[in-house]
Amino acid sequence: MTTSTFNEIGQVLREHQRFAILGHVRPDGDALGSQLALALSLQQLGKDVRVWNEDGILEKYSFLPRSELLTKPPATAEDVDVAIALDTAIQSRLGTVLAAIRSAKIWINIDHHLSNPGYGDMVIVDPSAPATGEIIFRLIKSQGLPLNHDIAENLYVAISTDTGSFQYPKTSARTFEIAAELVRVGSLDVGKISQQLYESHPRRRLELLRELLRTMRFEFGGRAASFSLTLKTAADLAVLPEDNEGLIDHLRAIRGVVVAVFFEELADGKVRVSMRSKDEAVDVCAICQKFGGGGHTLAAGARVRGSLAEVEGKVLEEIRGVLERKS
Ligand code: 5GP
Ligand code: MN
Repeated sequence: MTTSTFNEIGQVLREHQRFAILGHVRPDGDALGSQLALALSLQQLGKDVRVWNEDGILEKYSFLPRSELLTKPPATAEDVDVAIALDTAIQSRLGTVLAAIRSAKIWINIDHHLSNPGYGDMVIVDPSAPATGEIIFRLIKSQGLPLNHDIAENLYVAISTDTGSFQYPKTSARTFEIAAELVRVGSLDVGKISQQLYESHPRRRLELLRELLRTMRFEFGGRAASFSLTLKTAADLAVLPEDNEGLIDHLRAIRGVVVAVFFEELADGKVRVSMRSKDEAVDVCAICQKFGGGGHTLAAGARVRGSLAEVEGKVLEEIRGVLERKS
């Protein structure tokens, strides 16, 4: 994989006209915020920009400035000059968006996932960045691209959500400096943004947590904690896929727990596995890669074929091996 420089990418951004800015399925604040921020900056330059995500904008992120720009991909494929994948560890995680691009002269891949293999013609993968939004900020600054209130707020949300509100280990002095600059440049109301992000959940999210806690299990001397969600419970509570984002943090937050796992039964005969670690020596990205997934050392996921019980058994067995080798 050859890594591109911000200058090389900046040149491509300036020299082309039609862009598609893409992000991963089941998007989070980093994917959506980074997509909107880069799109708005390119629009300010007079570019023709499409912003597509398989899931469209999520209800809980609809407060993001100019969120209406981000749509589901069209049914008929379109030609663009440049396709830019953001925060997407593996190209297939673009989902249906991939089929919406008939042709692109150049594919750019900007991401911070350790497991990113470096697909595309131009690549910046920086696993030291706590959020893709931080890389987009550095791209915008280094190339003198437009940065206004709306762009700043989208980037702030990207960084705030992917750092767990500036708490996760990759949060650095640079992260706070960037956040400070975003707050200053955009005159951002941090309290209001935080309330929209962290204190505006639908009631059903807590009802979901109540059901998940009933299934909570501790294993391997309390070093692993897990809970699971069946299709039936999800239907009974009428929860949306986005409602469970962050609930796994309750498991990780328990003293003694090193690995937290969330198993979610999906309609396609697979189980979505979401994993968190509190110890760099327990690399959940490596564990998830064994099941065809990926992510970061401390936060990763996979979609595994099989019933809930089968997948739980296989995944917990793998975790047991890793914890035993470590101790
Ligand atoms: P989450 O548990 O929040 O869904 O995902 C945690 C991290 O793992 C995210 O950075 C996400 O991109 C990555 N991830 C989650 N599921 C998958 C997957 O099925 N495949 C890959 N390659 N990465 C995943
Ligand atoms: Mn991210």
